[in-house]
Amino acid sequence: MLDFSYMNITEKTVPGYERVLFGEDKTVGYRGIIVMHSTARGPAGGGTRFWNYGNDAEALEDALRLARGMTYKNALADLPLGGGKSVIMGDNKTSDREKIFRAHGRFIDTLGGRYMTGEDVGTSPADMEYVRKETTHVAGLHDTSGDPSPKTARGVLRAMQAAAQHRWRTKELAGKTVAIQGCGHVGYFLAQELHRVGTHLIVTDIDIQSVQRVVADFGATAVVPEEIYSARADIFAPCALGGIINDQTIPQLQVEIVCGAANNQLLEPRHGDMLEQRDILYAPDYAANAGGIINGCCLEILGWDQPAMLKKLDVIYDTVLQIFQIAEKEGIPSYRAADRLAEQRISVPTLPRTS
Ligand code: NAD
Repeated sequence: MLDFSYMNITEKTVPGYERVLFGEDKTVGYRGIIVMHSTARGPAGGGTRFWNYGNDAEALEDALRLARGMTYKNALADLPLGGGKSVIMGDNKTSDREKIFRAHGRFIDTLGGRYMTGEDVGTSPADMEYVRKETTHVAGLHDTSGDPSPKTARGVLRAMQAAAQHRWRTKELAGKTVAIQGCGHVGYFLAQELHRVGTHLIVTDIDIQSVQRVVADFGATAVVPEEIYSARADIFAPCALGGIINDQTIPQLQVEIVCGAANNQLLEPRHGDMLEQRDILYAPDYAANAGGIINGCCLEILGWDQPAMLKKLDVIYDTVLQIFQIAEKEGIPSYRAADRLAEQRISVPTLPRTS
């Protein structure tokens, strides 16, 4: 018998955010945060991250940044969703997942649908099955829209093609070399997509088995984690954690394009300016990595079929191209152009009920 006893919930006021909630269920060792950044366009949508944070402040900072990013991502993708995110603090290799994720589900359910979740780093569709035992406000299950990662990878590929079109005047990626950081859920499928279109791959991960799988399946060349930044490649694809575009890594980059799935790739906004100064084209993360949420939202919330959803996913190509064009025309870095376009859409809720 699982113990479904008391969940202690506290709230913190954070300027610029609608709600920031802390949940704790001591009986199962659960500690989590739900951040609702904006519900202007619809329920706050954003996945659950399970991570062994150094301390609570680090976890909160991560959740706040991620939730805000979801508002921008969902608005830019023109989805009827606001932005939110949740994090679970603890050892994400724990075997006792049912207790933790059911506690998380109970926490989410207290919001009555104003926050909706799905997978993120450290979680899987199997974990979301546990969440579903406690709440209906969860997407990305095996029998609904499924694992979002292959669709996120497909969206990143479309963003890369747009970046290639802008930089090299051809969206052809055959013969190019892409350096992928992180061979997890999205990294693996991105490697598969890129292998299919004929790119060479350089890959890394802190998890040896994940790297070995990509090397074996797609003939990738493996490097140690610190060497991925200086890899001789055309494109750098961050598919692990955020903050990896920073003062230390930018001088090492040998690529012409940065385009990947990781959220919050720029440690600070000024690092977007630094990429620009180095003439490295940056495909803003939340524009490039929207494929997973487009998949979940179109199939589960809007009730679209696969072809309609895939058509919507392909729009990532046009959106990223549009961002580069705005940036060029207005003489601003691409991350600012993306923010500008997203902000125009945040206050304009649209409810596309049919495809
Ligand atoms: P994941 O946990 O499956 O994979 C992340 C991988 O990165 C793991 O294999 C991990 O070992 C590796 N890693 C961590 N730190 C590393 C380091 N310093 N160097 C090299 N490798 C490292 O997560 P995922 O679902 O593939 O997501 C990857 C990124 O994409 C995350 O930032 C996530 O927020 C973002 N994202 C994911 C989705 C999705 O559909 N899964 C959607 C949008 C954005």
